[in-house]
Amino acid sequence: MKHTFLVTLLLLSASSLFAQVQDTYITSIDTLDTDDKFVKIVIYSNKTWDYIDMGRPVIDEEKIFDDWSESIHAYRDVKLADLPEEIDICLTDSLHGWSYPILPQKINSKYMVRRGREHNGIDLPLQVGDSVKVAFDGVVRKVAYDRGGYGNVIVVRHPNGLETYYGHLSKTIAQEKEVVKAGEVIGLGGSTGRSTGPHLHFEIRCQGQSFDPERLFDFTSGQLRDSIIVLKKHYFSIYSHYGQTDEESKAAAGRIVHVIKSGDTLGGLAKKYGTTVSKICNLNGISSKKVLRIGERIIVR
Ligand SMILES: [Zn+2]
Repeated sequence: MKHTFLVTLLLLSASSLFAQVQDTYITSIDTLDTDDKFVKIVIYSNKTWDYIDMGRPVIDEEKIFDDWSESIHAYRDVKLADLPEEIDICLTDSLHGWSYPILPQKINSKYMVRRGREHNGIDLPLQVGDSVKVAFDGVVRKVAYDRGGYGNVIVVRHPNGLETYYGHLSKTIAQEKEVVKAGEVIGLGGSTGRSTGPHLHFEIRCQGQSFDPERLFDFTSGQLRDSIIVLKKHYFSIYSHYGQTDEESKAAAGRIVHVIKSGDTLGGLAKKYGTTVSKICNLNGISSKKVLRIGERIIVR
């Protein structure tokens, strides 16, 4: 009897405590947009409201608009020779996040010379309409349609000095000069421009010079390799790749490339550059019987 009474008492006090907690426990019941996408209004269950800060990216607006350009590529006057031997870039810290642009998948096509053309970025497979997210905080520099190349493209400038390019989009969402936060959806994947199927062309440039995006991201796992990167001058070559030693990258960057003109033959090139047809074939992974196309880039040394 005494025991039952105690249990009842305990149950009673527990339920009254619960009621008290329920009374004071305020939940947010709705969130409203404001004119500023980094500020939202939250409405609480007790009919009060408040502004919430969505974390505006920290961007030095005076600096980020230096060498701003209305065309797809900026820094047109900067030559590779003018760049320092090494450039330190901070990719992420306590103030700046990062995001992988799409769901991580195997790369379709690498940073390389492909069918005689420089492919200055990497191709990542996606479905038309997939969200494409900006990799780092920044300001959208260019939203364009480039019919013979990138298709619908967005170029974002980042406070760390990099620019990222997102090409072949089916739809662009971000606007020029818009401040964007890492992970924000800036467009939807597609196959516009020079494209044979849905994919994202992702390109990274520093001072207008492209380098292998695999130096930043492990595209298979979707991870950033490190929070900082030291960009070496020899990285800014289409022949310099992630995974090469510095010696290999330097040698690759020092290669001499010949753009095929009418009348050129492999024998003629070998003679002109003091090498042999078989060496040229090895460097380019081609057969000596290959038909050379005008405009094609052939490594000669
Ligand atoms: Zn591409």
